Amino acid sequence: MQYNSTRNNNETIEGHQAIIEGLAKDGGLYVPSVFPASIFQEALVNDSYQELAYRILHAFFDTYTEEDLRNCIHLAYTNRFKTKEITPLTINGKYPLLELYHGPTSAFKDVALSILPHLLTSAYRMNHNQETVAILTATSGDTGKAALEGFRDVKNTLIQVFYPSEGVSPTQKRQMQTSLGDNVNVVAISGNFDDCQRVVKQAYQDAFVQSHLHNVILSSANSINIGRLIPQVVYYFDSYLQLVKQGRLHFGDRVNFVVPTGNFGNILAGYYAKQIGLPIHRLICASNENHVLTDFIKTGTYSRNRDFHETMSPSMDILVSSNLERLLYHFANGDGAYIQALYQEFEKSGSFSITPEMKELLDTHFVGYWASEEACAKTIHDAYFIDHILLDPHTAVAYYAAKQYEAEFGSAIPSIVLATASPFKFSKSVLTSLKQNVPEDEEEAMQQLADYTKQEIPQGLAQAFSLPIRFTKTVTKEAANQAIIDFIEGGLHVSD
Ligand SMILES: *Cc1c(COP(=O)(O)O)cnc(C)c1O
Repeated sequence: MQYNSTRNNNETIEGHQAIIEGLAKDGGLYVPSVFPASIFQEALVNDSYQELAYRILHAFFDTYTEEDLRNCIHLAYTNRFKTKEITPLTINGKYPLLELYHGPTSAFKDVALSILPHLLTSAYRMNHNQETVAILTATSGDTGKAALEGFRDVKNTLIQVFYPSEGVSPTQKRQMQTSLGDNVNVVAISGNFDDCQRVVKQAYQDAFVQSHLHNVILSSANSINIGRLIPQVVYYFDSYLQLVKQGRLHFGDRVNFVVPTGNFGNILAGYYAKQIGLPIHRLICASNENHVLTDFIKTGTYSRNRDFHETMSPSMDILVSSNLERLLYHFANGDGAYIQALYQEFEKSGSFSITPEMKELLDTHFVGYWASEEACAKTIHDAYFIDHILLDPHTAVAYYAAKQYEAEFGSAIPSIVLATASPFKFSKSVLTSLKQNVPEDEEEAMQQLADYTKQEIPQGLAQAFSLPIRFTKTVTKEAANQAIIDFIEGGLHVSD
């Protein structure tokens, strides 16, 4: 299995190398040069989540030994998730709900960020590298905490997260400040998310930082890493097989998946699942008021030239969906030069249009809908009072899209809705949508939602308010490089 950049299909590298490099040097993303053969067969019905993960990871990353891959899977998916199914499928509401939020930070990013650190450290070992890997991550909320949990106490790694001092929710801030582990560090930057991202990107090139790196390599846990994408393919297969096991689906029948989408990573994993044999009819792309993807799917023109909206589904507040570049590369039959030109155009004008042939492929595989804030709130309300299920705002956007799809195309093909976060992570928005009192204090809001719904607060979220705060440092972006060096030099004494 070879990988190449979306912007250059002449040079290929192995999968483990692509995981180490993260982003290609030409600015493109790594993609499989050809997809593995179909793995879809009836015997999969007897697989555990871990067994299925092995089959899929092995198909995409064949340079790892079986022992190495199984060990990565064991470390990622033993005792870290609250349910033994890892990603259980529940059938209480109108649509089967694939619950991806039972990991340590109560959001779907845990599924991939639990295994990425192990894939990365095994890849380094494969190259006989002795260095410590220092992961620098900028976050606007969810990614930072999931990365901190994923890398915490992983041998020969250090992780430092930068978040905007005023740009994350109180719960998210608290989750990060109370992080455990001897190899972790969290720093607030007085600035916005873009400042954080710049701090991280510039550190890689900064001579002052580089001169202090002895036996330390900088890397990143960004969602553009192919090592974060492939582990997400697993739950598409697993949820399908759960439906078969429950007798709700015949093996071989087609299904739709409805995916609340921001950076296009999660839904792209669904497309990859389809490429290796899963009988998916349509991937339904659900957006909030930042509906750049809905418009793209409708018209074939992608344009970020529009207002940015802050919504109650903040992890989908995004105007440039990085992983879309991968889909376009596949639709363009692997024409790297074409993708390079398309993204040059995008840099210049903020928009691009695809060819009629590509638009046709888009229509074959995808359909898009978006929910206004009002529709999202009403969906949370009605899902609770009519369907008796509690949705977080991101999942509600998808649930709404599922209804839109059904109104347009009927319900002959079942639609599985991906639930990406625990409602308790967004307690205030959920309480507001349920038309309940909303306490000012975040912890009280969480408790109130628990009392009202008689559901339990996930342990990790409750803990954020009981564990001591460890990280309170705020620095200017100018002082960030010193913070990086201080952490790396201090951190080396505790890791072995
Ligand atoms: C990150 C995130 C999303 C969006 O996923 P993408 O892979 O970026 O499309 C949706 N919901 C939640 C809760 C998230 O944290």
